[in-house]
Amino acid sequence: MATKYIIVTGGVTSSLGKGIICASLGRLLVARGLRVTIQKLDPYINVDPGTMNPYEHGEVYVTDDGAETDLDLGHYERFLDIKTSQENNVTTGRIYYDVIMKERRGAFLGKTVQVIPHITDEIKSHVIKLGSSQDYDVVLVEVGGTVGDIESLPYIEAMRQLKYEVGRKNTLSIHLTLVPYLAAAGELKTKPTQHSVKTLSESGLSPDILVCRSEHSLDGTIRRKIAQFCNVDIEDVIASLDAESIYEVPLLMQKEGLDLRVIDKLGLPAKNADLKRWIEFVDKIKFPKKEIDIALVGKYVEHHDAYKSIVEALIHGGAVNDCKVNVRWVQSEDLTKQNVEKELGGLSGILVAPGFGDRGIEGKFVAVNYARENKIPFFGICLGMQCAVIEFARNVIGEEDANSTEFNENSSFPIINLMLDQLDVEDKGGTMRLGKYECEIKDGTFAKEAYQSNLIEERHRHRFEVNNELREQLVENGMVLSGLNPERDLVEIIEIKDHPWFVGVQFHPELRSTVYDPHPLFTSFVKASVEHGKAQHKEVFKAES
Ligand code: GLN
Repeated sequence: MATKYIIVTGGVTSSLGKGIICASLGRLLVARGLRVTIQKLDPYINVDPGTMNPYEHGEVYVTDDGAETDLDLGHYERFLDIKTSQENNVTTGRIYYDVIMKERRGAFLGKTVQVIPHITDEIKSHVIKLGSSQDYDVVLVEVGGTVGDIESLPYIEAMRQLKYEVGRKNTLSIHLTLVPYLAAAGELKTKPTQHSVKTLSESGLSPDILVCRSEHSLDGTIRRKIAQFCNVDIEDVIASLDAESIYEVPLLMQKEGLDLRVIDKLGLPAKNADLKRWIEFVDKIKFPKKEIDIALVGKYVEHHDAYKSIVEALIHGGAVNDCKVNVRWVQSEDLTKQNVEKELGGLSGILVAPGFGDRGIEGKFVAVNYARENKIPFFGICLGMQCAVIEFARNVIGEEDANSTEFNENSSFPIINLMLDQLDVEDKGGTMRLGKYECEIKDGTFAKEAYQSNLIEERHRHRFEVNNELREQLVENGMVLSGLNPERDLVEIIEIKDHPWFVGVQFHPELRSTVYDPHPLFTSFVKASVEHGKAQHKEVFKAES
């Protein structure tokens, strides 16, 4: 069967949840036995989001092959239980970069290089390349931005051409739009949707299916009106109402018949949907037996998208433990020895987040110190792990000046320093230690207990590491270096023994956690936190007794 392409565009406004709709439809198609992947086309001129501030763009999601990508790829992996790669995220920056490189090599000799056909051809070739890379039945193509944006135009045109070239039987256009409720009029309004569809249709890409985000249900009259004015069948008007959890969206879309419409229109050979495990998972998060509060200590806490995958991994790990994890967002800049008891006292677990730069760093040391001394389950991720090592060097080894050379180049005890291969790196984009590397795990450690394996692979995004010249002093003072990279002898996991659960990891386990494959470290951390919470304040466990 030829690969089918489903083009998903968005209209009226941003933040309608296009990524979640794509991931949800993807999940429904996978549940019917189809091979599916999702590609995100981002209209910005950065080559990748790697150099963007988390306030701008949220988390940078790193794939196995070391691509720094849009956080929607995280949703794709978590929902579909697939691995994505560089090819799943295309930006305008990358497209232009590739076209300009080709021009310099003389690939277009004699021609004027133009948006049409050269840029649009390059966009199409990326889409087709992904589709043919692995025998996919379906590629969902999420076009970033909002229809009508100047910067989205080449993508819309490329998708129009794609539809023409691979054939109508093999493509489908889904448009996600907003049907707002005007309280003053007491009515749902269809005009924004009509305008958005009109704009899209003027570009030659009329939608086959409309997914309408709304805060109120769409009755028959509204659906008929939308269908009539937007030129789609009434069955192709799909309502997408607000859900309590993003994980409910696939089930809501199934109820609305989105997958059936897609299967029907594309003639896909689909089995009955097997969503048993998904439904069990949603039940667990909707009706948890217990609840705990975990601190997430970081400097971007006002912007939760900066820690997207961590929050999702806590939900996955929570579900395994029949537990709802409430995240207490703690701004590390405001955390001091004086207020730490007030901020972190009574919580079941403390997680110190990844990050770059020294803003709020001292507050992170305070959080680590509090978790270590009060024996509260602690999880340090990347910078969080580096903070745990620095805190240990300062307060256990007694090296008061211990630091990372990222924050103090003149530290007399640079227990975290720049990796050797980073010394001469000047460019900021795509030059960190990125992607999947191996880690060997020692027996008798928290890590071994969690993973149940001595060799694992995890994704990375960092420039600094534990200083191998000083690391023996950590061990002599009781820190366990429980995971090492065999190739370069880099410290990947640290632990403290005389503690209920104290683990720091140089890598990003949150990027690998999915609904069907929750990450073992998050599962273990939540389990230890539940036990700690039980011992501390039994009242939150009423539901269990
Ligand atoms: N800034 C630290 C480094 O580059 C940690 C990075 C991170 O937390 N992702 O090593």
